[in-house]
Amino acid sequence: MSSESPSSSPLIAVRAFVGGGEMGKLVSAKDWSQTPLGPIENWSPSLLTAVNLVLNSNFPIALVWGAQHTQIYNDGYWPICGGKHPVSMGQNFSECWASAFPVIGDVFRSALAGTTAFLEDQRMFLDRLGYLEETFFTFSFSPIRDEHGHVAGLFHPVTETTSKMIGQRRTRALRDLTAAGLGAASIDVALLRAALTLNDAALDVPFALFYRLDDDQRVARLVAQTGINSGATASPTVANLEQNNSAWPLTRILAHGATFYLDNVQTLFPGLVCGPYPELITAACARAITGAGQGKPIGIMVFGRSTRLPMNPAYPDFFELLGATVNNVVTSALAAETERRRLDALAEIDRAKTVFFANISHEFRTPLTLMLAPLEDELANAVHMPTPTRERLETAHRNALRLLKLVNTLLDFSRIEAGRVHANFQASDLAVLTIELADMFRSAVERVGLSFDVDCPKIAEPIYVDHEMWEKIVLNLLANALKYTFSGGIRVALNARDNDVELTVTDTGVGIPVNELPLLFERFHRVKDARARTHEGTGIGLALVQELARLHGGVASAVSIEGQGSTFTVRIPRGHDHLAAEQIQAIPAMRANAAAAFIDETDQWVDTAMLTTVTAIATTETRPRIVWADDNADMRNYVARLLSTDYAVTAVANGEDAVVSALAQPPDLVLTDIMMPGLDGIGVLRALRADARTKLTPVILLSARAGDEETSSGLAEGADDYIVKPFAARELLARVRSHLAMAKLRREAAMIQIHAAQVEQNEAESRKLLAAETASRRALLRILEGQQRAEAALRVSQETLQLTLDAAQIGYWDLDLITHAATRSLRHDLILGYTE
Ligand code: ADP
Repeated sequence: MSSESPSSSPLIAVRAFVGGGEMGKLVSAKDWSQTPLGPIENWSPSLLTAVNLVLNSNFPIALVWGAQHTQIYNDGYWPICGGKHPVSMGQNFSECWASAFPVIGDVFRSALAGTTAFLEDQRMFLDRLGYLEETFFTFSFSPIRDEHGHVAGLFHPVTETTSKMIGQRRTRALRDLTAAGLGAASIDVALLRAALTLNDAALDVPFALFYRLDDDQRVARLVAQTGINSGATASPTVANLEQNNSAWPLTRILAHGATFYLDNVQTLFPGLVCGPYPELITAACARAITGAGQGKPIGIMVFGRSTRLPMNPAYPDFFELLGATVNNVVTSALAAETERRRLDALAEIDRAKTVFFANISHEFRTPLTLMLAPLEDELANAVHMPTPTRERLETAHRNALRLLKLVNTLLDFSRIEAGRVHANFQASDLAVLTIELADMFRSAVERVGLSFDVDCPKIAEPIYVDHEMWEKIVLNLLANALKYTFSGGIRVALNARDNDVELTVTDTGVGIPVNELPLLFERFHRVKDARARTHEGTGIGLALVQELARLHGGVASAVSIEGQGSTFTVRIPRGHDHLAAEQIQAIPAMRANAAAAFIDETDQWVDTAMLTTVTAIATTETRPRIVWADDNADMRNYVARLLSTDYAVTAVANGEDAVVSALAQPPDLVLTDIMMPGLDGIGVLRALRADARTKLTPVILLSARAGDEETSSGLAEGADDYIVKPFAARELLARVRSHLAMAKLRREAAMIQIHAAQVEQNEAESRKLLAAETASRRALLRILEGQQRAEAALRVSQETLQLTLDAAQIGYWDLDLITHAATRSLRHDLILGYTE
């Protein structure tokens, strides 16, 4: 820089500075002779002009002039200097702002070399309030050239952006904290994530500690921290609030209820240094961690305060928001934790249920096997048995098999759920396998008048299936189709597609309400009040089909229109890449005969031939007559056989038949199952009670469950009794007997009444007769008197006649004969009239 020639008029300069605000006065008053710029009087015109320009500007500007970088600034710049003012006026710029030089040094020097520099929101540390302070500035350094074109000084407008920049940074931290906390599965996870996020906010929060309190608020455990390692003096892992073994005043913090500010951190923890700066931490704040809806605090959070930021109002505002954000995150984690605990509990129940099913199924299998074996032995010799004995054994055998099938299904299910199922996938001709399975159903389907269409064209390559599982899939779907279809038909089709094979079982049955479709494959789900061939069912069949399809890497699905029919589809992938190598069998596995149980069972719903076996009642029958209704053929035959020893039984398969039979020939008693397709037991009861012929006929209901709603409504509607299944034969017979006896007593009582009434009536009639007799006697007497009078008259007239004849002497004997006859006949009539 070149030296300046003295001003010819220093007074002008001084006057000019007068208009330069407070700094103008200061510059004017200052003795510049002691500075590198020398006395004002000697200042060059360009310096004076520049100083004038700076002092009269409202924008914060500093001027750097001369070889010693002497700084002159205006009123706007003055606050930037903070505690450095007024020493900073006229001070060497690089000395004054030495702490910022690591950041601004380069641009400062390049401006002196003639290149203008502009920096925006530059972060720097200024030592203007007695400590290094984190600040942000937008500024430029522009060279000022003298008359010779040399750089004589720098023009340095500057604006402080500290609060804007720190505000943005804190907003970001709070936003990140919220985002990180979202979806935390537990409070501890939420606090860990909060600590991790605050690791990036160390400039504002040099350290953070998160303690959780135990239930009785006596012990606080450190669950997450940042800025300080856990277990240090300032971050004990466990703090006992009662013993006060932590220097943090935890009890007071909890009692305070709001954010608790501590300015004595160095007293509590001498020498504590942490976070990004080497200065001793002096201040912190702490508050309770609370979750919405929690009656008491669940923890305590402590945040350190930056050593390089002033405690201006923005800082506590930030701490308040920070605490609130942590509490929000904790609240949502708390909700997630509660939800998870609920789900865990449900899962636990489900697991327990699976284990229970597995155990109970096992337990059932042993006695069932022990029942089946002797039954089968006996049946092997059945040819020598009397028919009723054989039939009884067959019923027991069939039902033991059915029970075994149910138990096996449950066991299959629990095995799948426990992941303990071992599939044997074999390369199979799926078309042939499926046709074989479908054909087993043909006779049952056709017997009920449905069409049966099996369309399974040969598939070029083998398909990998577990035979037993495939069998269960096909048979379950077919059994359902038969159960829920009353007209039309059933179609089974197999269709090879690009990547999979598709089995469809379509029926024209009752269909499924649209709201039930999503639940169809859930375990134990059944559509309420669906019309079916039987009420039997557990709601487990489709769930099993789905699980089995899944085990094949496939899916099961259903489409249906209520009232029109349903299509169930199972798709399984072609090839075997999707299957575990150890589950692929080279040798075909033994086929278990699960199909037999299915066919036996479905036969029961469609076998109407059996109904008639016990229905014919001889017309000469004198035993009491019972109408007995149940849709289950075995149950029907069993009970019919029980009763038929003493009674004439009409066994029917449904409610309608029961009513028709009872009205046509009123029985002595009606026994009916409650659950039957079509008209159920309650319906039968109502129909009988509504008809005079059966109004008083005893009706006993058979119920599947004790305490059933239907049972109580049955009794309310006038059923005489109900019996819960299973029942002992003796009990059933005893109840039937007692109701028949009661009915007989009622009938006899009624007879006695009728008899008494008849006697009464007879007496009245006798009385009437007696009165009539007396009257007729009197009438006879009157008649007799009349007769005597008549005889006397007759005699008189005979004598008169004789006299007349004698006198006339004409045809004597003829007249005499006539008269004699007339007299006799008259007498005779009179005698008869008397005696009768
Ligand atoms: P279940 O037949 O033992 O009740 P499933 O799991 O086999 O149990 O079937 C569940 C429910 O789905 C049945 O209760 C029935 O309401 C409905 N459903 C199944 N198959 C059909 C079908 N083909 N047509 C109509 N409804 C069906």
